[in-house]
Amino acid sequence: MRNKNTTQMYGEVKSVEKLTPTMIRVVLHNGELANFAGSNATDAYVNARFVPAGSPVEAPFGPDDLEGLAPEHRPRPRRFTIRRWDSQRHELTIDFVAHGDVGFAGSWAQRATPGDRLQFDGPGGSYRPSSQVDWHLIGGDESAFPAIAASIEALPAHAQAIAFVVVDGPEHELDIDAQADVALTWLHRDSSPAPELLLPEAVSSAEFPQGTFDVFVHGEAGEVRAVRRHLVGDRGVDESTASISPYWRRTFTDEAWREVKRGWMAEQARDTVPS
Ligand SMILES: Cc1cc2nc3c(=O)[nH]c(=O)nc-3n(C[C@H](O)[C@H](O)[C@H](O)COP(=O)(O)OP(=O)(O)OC[C@H]3O[C@@H](n4cnc5c(N)ncnc54)[C@H](O)[C@@H]3O)c2cc1C
Repeated sequence: MRNKNTTQMYGEVKSVEKLTPTMIRVVLHNGELANFAGSNATDAYVNARFVPAGSPVEAPFGPDDLEGLAPEHRPRPRRFTIRRWDSQRHELTIDFVAHGDVGFAGSWAQRATPGDRLQFDGPGGSYRPSSQVDWHLIGGDESAFPAIAASIEALPAHAQAIAFVVVDGPEHELDIDAQADVALTWLHRDSSPAPELLLPEAVSSAEFPQGTFDVFVHGEAGEVRAVRRHLVGDRGVDESTASISPYWRRTFTDEAWREVKRGWMAEQARDTVPS
């Protein structure tokens, strides 16, 4: 059983829906969701713990339950954006990228059925489109799409945004319920000879509207880094007005990525220091 003072909580899968060939929406309810705080950030996320198949552990679990557990049975932490929180019904929606039969989180979503439990803590997150700027620059891949969509949906009708989202192809595009004036460009990996360049090249060749803007660019680490280098180095973007974050790294598991992330971020900061 879990310690009483823990910040962890769990929900049960209410429904699972395939939004695109590689995007799975899981709605959680019941469990301890009545205690969930929600967040004003449009990139709010939970730190969920995925129990590997074959592990004897079941949510809710606490530190005592993990003592002496074989490494391959230990729950794996992964961050996932809150696509929607319904504070009346206590329902939490998460959209998972299904990226093959690898890893723990994406494969969990592919197997999920009603009644399955997911334990998590949070929420974290810090971005919300500023009401003090003339327009918003938004970009990323499908892992950032839940935050991108939540951010765009939070914009009032008079706001203006330019957005770029990288997905495999047209059948991976999703609707956004936007009130604002949003120029959204979908970038397709399947028809590109260099998919990792799609986002940086789209941003660097974009004609920016006049006026002040804020930035939200999250997604694959190499792509995000290239966009940052351009925005800060070439367009003079002040990083205090920019939320630029690598969510995952191609070919790295989340564990391997977290091991090198600090060094990567330090190197990334040096990308734009004039020599
Ligand atoms: C704050 C935050 C919010 C996030 N929100 C979301 C979200 O809402 N939805 C979402 O799907 N992801 C989101 N991510 C990214 C997600 O946490 C990572 O993609 C994570 O690595 C997935 O874990 P996994 O166990 O499925 O795969 P892992 O075990 O981490 O990786 C296994 C293999 O799959 C590859 N891989 C991992 N992610 C992807 C991907 N997206 N596309 C293609 N290959 C991949 C890895 O490089 C590795 O080769 C978020 C990350 C952060 C930091």
